[in-house]
Amino acid sequence: MLGAAGLGGLAALAAPQTKTAAAERTVSVPDVSGDFDVVVAGGSCTGVFAALKAAEAGARVALVEMAGGFGGTATQGLVPVWHSLFSTDGKRRIIGGLTAQTEEELVRRGEARRLAADNPAVGTYLNVAGLQLLLDEMVLNAKRITPFLHTRLAAAECDRPGHVAAVVVADKAGLRRIRGKFFIDATGDADLCRFAGLGTWKLPKAEMQAHTTCAILAGVDGLRRKYPSFGFGEITKPKYGAKLEHVFGWEAPVIGAPGLDFLAYTRVSACDPSLPEDLTRAEFEGRAQLRRIVDAVNRAFPMPAGERLSVVSIAPHIGLRESCHIEGIYRLTTDDLLYGRHFDDVIAKGSYRVDIHEGAGITFRYLDGREERQVVKSDGSSEWKVGRWRTETEGLPTWYEIPYRSIVPKGAENVLAPGRALDCARDAYGACRVMVNCNQMGEAAGRAAAKALKKGLKAADAHVG
Ligand SMILES: Cc1cc2nc3c(=O)[nH]c(=O)nc-3n(C[C@H](O)[C@H](O)[C@H](O)COP(=O)(O)OP(=O)(O)OC[C@H]3O[C@@H](n4cnc5c(N)ncnc54)[C@H](O)[C@@H]3O)c2cc1C
Repeated sequence: MLGAAGLGGLAALAAPQTKTAAAERTVSVPDVSGDFDVVVAGGSCTGVFAALKAAEAGARVALVEMAGGFGGTATQGLVPVWHSLFSTDGKRRIIGGLTAQTEEELVRRGEARRLAADNPAVGTYLNVAGLQLLLDEMVLNAKRITPFLHTRLAAAECDRPGHVAAVVVADKAGLRRIRGKFFIDATGDADLCRFAGLGTWKLPKAEMQAHTTCAILAGVDGLRRKYPSFGFGEITKPKYGAKLEHVFGWEAPVIGAPGLDFLAYTRVSACDPSLPEDLTRAEFEGRAQLRRIVDAVNRAFPMPAGERLSVVSIAPHIGLRESCHIEGIYRLTTDDLLYGRHFDDVIAKGSYRVDIHEGAGITFRYLDGREERQVVKSDGSSEWKVGRWRTETEGLPTWYEIPYRSIVPKGAENVLAPGRALDCARDAYGACRVMVNCNQMGEAAGRAAAKALKKGLKAADAHVG
């Protein structure tokens, strides 16, 4: 055992050494060992599916994810809904591939519940923990994928304009470099493209879709039994004191956990998630709104102790609806989407409606010409305005298409950006951004990356039909 004198002696010895060492240090960025053809940044299903498809085609893949697990907004944001894999009339299956296989496996495991094929709001409720466990299995069982968790993309190095040679990541070892031949930016925020100096754009903050901190709650079923008219929509009214400026939110069951409910009722608007200060503010603001919602419910709808509404789990990451988009070789227009334009380089088909989370309300626009808008009235309550954005006519489309050219950054030789960073007009984006669509873009990017490497093609020429 050391006495006081012993401790003092140690301190005297240690202090000068630490000082000298610190003064002489420079930041080194060693290479990660491994020889990679394709580097995928971001590990939602978009990134995971890209990695799986590139590896299946023979590429050695590094899959970099800043969280401790895969799944992106589904697992880090707790969002439990995939939309229908069928055309809007429910008659034609338009989405297959890894999305369908994953959904089928989760249904088989009892970790997902499928609704009617023509349901315009929900295709399948997923247990997102089940999804995360399945993605672990898929990645670990794949040959040629090296996963890097808790690893954040921090910079990109180009050896000539438009040609990325390596990414720099921050992990528990400090900064490290991962070299590769082809890069897939599945960060959702176009981080890799921005860091590589490729063109990106973003809407003014006020026009970006709002973000939401999601949570799992206990006690909703008890409230509904005691107060049959209870609904979270009620709580947005000013009289309940939750001090919310928005009126729209939604709930979902937690598959496999009767008694628990998923809630997406917070809304942080005018926030650009590519700005670190905005993102920090958004995390605090989303959680503060959640606190106020739960407190307002418990004040207005009293329950016995132990049965009150309580938060069981808060999403580790605020759910981000929109941030930076790539400057692609083609910007998908709203007419392309709503009139169901066919593309010769189609990589994804979708039937989910245009869904725009405005500052306070929401707008839905459908391929059949209908439009629904929830607007806030002067007394803080809301009303739905239902109409049409186009007149009724024969032969309306029942799905839309997303072309490869919208995930190819302009001027990029060896980069693709599938997922919500695609180049897309604001209203079209309201539909493209959902997971079943991003998943398909990811698969296409993985296959195209492998093709580009095999045939020596530039990203723009590597579309796989
Ligand atoms: C509250 C909310 C509700 C929604 N509801 C639905 C719904 O019901 N159904 C639906 O289909 N869609 C829904 N969406 C939209 C959908 O979830 C997203 O648009 C979609 O998940 C985007 O996928 P993505 O892969 O492009 O991005 P993300 O899901 O955001 O995935 C990006 C991944 O990259 C990682 N990453 C980011 N930056 C870095 C970095 N620098 N280094 C390393 N890793 C990084 C992230 O951790 C994440 O894993 C909702 C969105 C929100 C926010």
